[in-house]
This record gives sequence, C-alpha cells and structure tokens, in this order.
Amino acid sequence: MKRIAILGATGSIGTQALEVAREHSSLVKIEVLTAANNAELLIKQALEFLPKTVVITEESKYQHVKEALSATTIEVLTGCNALNDVVKGASIDMVLTALVGFAGLEPTVSAIQAGKDVALANKETLVVAGEHIMSLANQYGTKILPVDSEHSAIFQCLSGESLASVEKIYLTASGGPFRGKDRSFLAHITKREALKHPNWIMGQKITIDSASLMNKGLEVIEAKWLFNLSIEQIEVIVHPQSIIHSLVQFNDGSLKAQLGLPDMKLPIQYALLHPGRPTNSFQRFDFMDYPQLSFEKPDLETFANLRLAYHAIQQGGNMPCILNAANEVAVAAFLSDEIGFLEMSAIIEETMTLIPFILSPSLVDYVSIDREARKIASDLVTKKKKVYQI
Ligand code: NDP
Ligand code: MG
Repeated sequence: MKRIAILGATGSIGTQALEVAREHSSLVKIEVLTAANNAELLIKQALEFLPKTVVITEESKYQHVKEALSATTIEVLTGCNALNDVVKGASIDMVLTALVGFAGLEPTVSAIQAGKDVALANKETLVVAGEHIMSLANQYGTKILPVDSEHSAIFQCLSGESLASVEKIYLTASGGPFRGKDRSFLAHITKREALKHPNWIMGQKITIDSASLMNKGLEVIEAKWLFNLSIEQIEVIVHPQSIIHSLVQFNDGSLKAQLGLPDMKLPIQYALLHPGRPTNSFQRFDFMDYPQLSFEKPDLETFANLRLAYHAIQQGGNMPCILNAANEVAVAAFLSDEIGFLEMSAIIEETMTLIPFILSPSLVDYVSIDREARKIASDLVTKKKKVYQI
C-alpha cells in the first residue's frame, strides 16, 4: 500500500490522481489532500477518501472546511506553512506535487528533507531550482518521479538503459491551438481561444503556457535537471497528435519512444505505482483513430517564449527563476484581460534584462529573486495595460 499526500488535490492533476487512487484502492491510500480555495471540492474528496489530514491554504475558508468535516476524525489545517509541515507526516510514503507555480518549491524541499519520494507534476519547482532539488534528493536518498507526460515518457524509455548511452532526447509538443499562426494573428487572440487546447484538458495556467509554448520551454529545463542532460541534448519537436509523448536517441542512432493516448492518468499512475504497471479500466489506444502521426520544427520566431526559456537555462543562475516568476505574472495578467497574448513574452524578456545576473543563488535566495521578478513584471503589466486598454 502506497500512502500518498496530494498537494493541489482539487486541480486537473489532483482530481485525475484521485481517479487513479479510486481505480487502485487496494494499492493506494490517500493520507493528505490540499487545496487553495476550492473548499467544496476538498470537502467532497475528504469525505470520500477519508485522509488523515486536509489543508485549505486560504485561511478564510478554514472554518467552513472544519465544520463540514467535524463528524470525522480528519485533521484540518490552514495557511501556506501547513503544506511544508504536512508533507513530513510519518504515515506518508510519497508526495504528489500537483499545485501550480513557485508555491510548489518549499513543500517539495520539505518533502525531500523528510525522506519522502516525490511524484512531481509541479514543473516550476525544477525550473526555478532544479540543481538544488536534484542534489537534495540525492543527499536524502529520495526519488523524484516525473508526472509530466513527456518526462514520464523519457523516464520509461530510459528504463534498463544507461544515461551515458543517451545521445539526445526529443520532447514532443502539440504546438497548441495557435500552431502555424504568425505574430499578427497572435496579437488579436482572446483568452477564450487560448484556453482551448486541442488535445489536453488542464488547469488554466498550463493551458496558456501550452498556447505560448512556454510550457515546452519549462519542460526543456525540467528535463535537463531530471535526466542530467546538457541543453544541447534536448530538442523540441512539434507532434500535433500528442500520441508520441517523447523519445530518447541513443549513441548508436537507435530511438526509443513512448506512446499512448493523451491521458494524464497514465503518467500519474506510472509515477504513483512505479515500478508496477497494474491493469486498469482506462481507455485503450486504437491505431485506426490515428492513421498518421506528423512532425514539424517549432516556430521560435512566433513563439518567443520557447526561445526565452532556452536563453534562460543557457545563462543559468537566477535566470530561470526570473523567467518563471515573470511568466506567472504575465499569464495571470493575460487571464484577467489586462494584457494581450504577445505582451506576455515582452514582459518576460524585459524582466530578464532588468534583474542583475547571479550565478549561484542559494535555495533561500530564490524566494527574494522570485519576489523581485514579480514586482518588476507587475510594474511592466501596469505600463502595458494602459496601452492595451486604450
Ligand atoms: P490546476 O490549476 O488545475 O490545479 C492547481 C491545484 O493547486 C488546485 O488544487 C489549487 O487549489 C492548488 N493551488 C493553486 N495555487 C496554489 C497555491 N499558491 N498554494 C497552494 N495550492 C495551490 O493546475 P494543474 O493540475 O493543471 O497543474 C498542476 C501542476 O502540474 C502545474 O505545475 C502544471 O504545470 C503541472 N502539469 C499539469 C498537467 C495537466 O494536465 N494539468 C500536465 C503536466 C504538468 P484550488 O483548486 O483550491 O485553487
Ligand atoms: Mg507536458
């Protein structure tokens, strides 16, 4: 029985992880569920899975959750610090980080330091502090199991192989809803259009990141740290059907790919129950539904965010943290109709030039770098908002 804490249980990954837990109730026991705001869903999940503890980080929702669960023995906690504490519980074997953004960093560090394995969906943590996280995991002897479908694919392809025999990896990208479009088209797209992903149903932030190709940029950085690769060894290839989830090319020129339907339950199950592959009732692949698989080069001119992400990781140091923070601010501003689609890249690029480079930030430094980058990016949003809203 694997005893699991899900951080971000009410989101897209969190709810699909609970579907996996339902499917494998004899193999998975849910010990902790957390949410930020969505008290109603958290309560419903808690009453079904009866975890030891739930956390609602938004303090104004605490009383309501506490009252709703008063007939149970479930402990209810609140506040952001509660996430750092709750992952350390003696009864937890694995922490699934399914919360969004920089907020995932500190609980992930706490989980590793408490000796817990991490099923990592929260890619932003590795983008910001990948080197620290991987070396902490090494130091505490814990495993980081990728949930992201591309990284799960690479992880599966590497099974039984030596990292020394890897020439390069190909991360596949669907290309998002604006594949093939140019910048003049992107200048006028709406939030609604950007939120319509062709193949995946996901949370809002990652859906916008997919439309701007920032998601692929974040995934390049995530892959670098997870698999200890150089940036030159990571290539992005657009594959609109999202059936090949990624590939490894070995020194002898041979390629290994992992395929499947675009269904996040598969990589979630693989991470939670690794190395097992228990059978499940999830939909099976039918070749006749996909008679053609196609491939294209990504368009780095139109989708500047992918280029910016490569630039950030090539520079290293605090740059990926700045990229991530500015992107979180820019995406939130786009989602609240304050700026247009193309302004997102402009804000990220400008923020990256306005903060002095630091080569080797400590884990503690990242909190202040993130804060500074958010402040600068927010000021840029305010400036651009005036122009955009005229
Ligand atoms: P969602 O927005 O759907 O869900 C986010 C979850 O985290 C919710 O439970 C939310 O609570 C909670 N949350 C949000 N902000 C905070 C915060 N500051 N502190 C604590 N909890 C918070 O996101 P997704 O499930 O789409 O994505 C989660 C992570 O997984 C992201 O890093 C994403 O990049 C990654 N990922 C997602 C994929 C997908 O298919 N969705 C695929 C691959 C990776 P509440 O509901 O109460 O707001
Ligand atoms: Mg992915």
